[in-house]
Amino acid sequence: MVRRARGPVALELHCAAGPAWLCEADGEPFPCSVWRSLPMDDHLRGVLLAVFTLFLRPAIRDLRGQPDGPTPPEIVERFLWFLPISDEEARATALRYR
Ligand SMILES: [Zn+2]
Repeated sequence: MVRRARGPVALELHCAAGPAWLCEADGEPFPCSVWRSLPMDDHLRGVLLAVFTLFLRPAIRDLRGQPDGPTPPEIVERFLWFLPISDEEARATALRYR
């Protein structure tokens, strides 16, 4: 029986880099719906926080100022979607990472 690639292996295909920050697998704004539909728990939230925090600075650098692009707080909310984060916290975080 052939083991199907699941979970983390499949997720690896859903990656992105600047300056566009679009998912390489499906073209959605990264992190795409595959990431956003992960069943969330405290462990995963901790892993995601460690990984996606690394994207914040380059993503803000690349995306801010693009025509019709997201604002830095919107970028924070987009990349840290798994956290309950207020607009105020998103603004403060954006200031730290720009
Ligand atoms: Zn994707």
